[in-house]
Amino acid sequence: MNLISASPRRDRLRIAIQKNGRLSEPARALLGSCGLSWRESPDKLFCYGDNAPVDLLLVRDDDIPGLIDSGLCDLGIVGRNVLCEQASERESANFREWRALGFGLCRLALAVPQEWDWHAPTQLLGKRIATSYPALTRAWLREQKVDAEVVVLNGSVEIAPRLGQADAICDLVSSGATLSANQLKPVCDLLQSEAVLTGPVTELDPELAETAQMLLRRIDGVLRIRDSKLLMFQAPRSAVADVLRLLPDAEAPTSFPMDGGEVLAMQALCHGVVSWQRLEELKRAGARALMVLPVERMLA
Ligand code: ATP
Ligand code: ZN
Repeated sequence: MNLISASPRRDRLRIAIQKNGRLSEPARALLGSCGLSWRESPDKLFCYGDNAPVDLLLVRDDDIPGLIDSGLCDLGIVGRNVLCEQASERESANFREWRALGFGLCRLALAVPQEWDWHAPTQLLGKRIATSYPALTRAWLREQKVDAEVVVLNGSVEIAPRLGQADAICDLVSSGATLSANQLKPVCDLLQSEAVLTGPVTELDPELAETAQMLLRRIDGVLRIRDSKLLMFQAPRSAVADVLRLLPDAEAPTSFPMDGGEVLAMQALCHGVVSWQRLEELKRAGARALMVLPVERMLA
């Protein structure tokens, strides 16, 4: 059986994720948190959904936009950098970003030798810039109205200046450690990137759209409670305004009257760290019986 044919119409949603690399584990973990589980094919290229009509195709990240474009896959998890690069290479693309997923954070940055006295992109005039992102680099150079040569490399871009292959580079940066190890410094960001859920620009077939909506609702729930805590406490009515001022990151707190209405029992979903120090401040403002609880699932 050919598992990756585009037609006839499928009734199982197919999601492309990176097989091996930085995004593979977090992508699987995210889908796992949505309650999905799979059986892996012996060649580890395909995962058949056990408990929902959602299968995974494990591929190189660079293949993901094309798989969505051609309809071979319905959704994918890929870095925005790959998606934007491939979108700017094409005249028209039937893929777009559906959701930012909050992991795989990095940026596409222009980096130059540390000894350069950097002022402005015009310094790149007539220089060679090594990159694996030629379309985004060229688009940025056009925007800056700078005529420079783009040298396309598929790996080890950061050593190109030392090898004399280029004068500067345009590459993905997260901590910046690789750049400084190669005597380079980032001077300009072209794109802020993270892993994204990608899907077609056009609508999915109705039989797949319902499953995709179910998955999106769950992904939204998972993203909303990531790093969130449920804070429960009691506060006299007179202190509530002061207490809430200390909770700017709390989603619409709910309250229930206690003790004849003079005291409120309250709960709020907080999207930041609820440290001991914060609890002490809340207590000083009048809250008591403070409790911080982990949130396991959420469906809005
Ligand atoms: P593949 O074999 O699938 O083509 P790859 O070598 O292109 O893998 P990885 O190095 O695994 O890809 O990176 C995957 C994605 O992780 C990148 O496209 C980017 O979105 C993200 N990422 C986050 N931080 C970094 C970083 N410091 N360097 C490179 N990619 C990063
Ligand atoms: Zn790749």
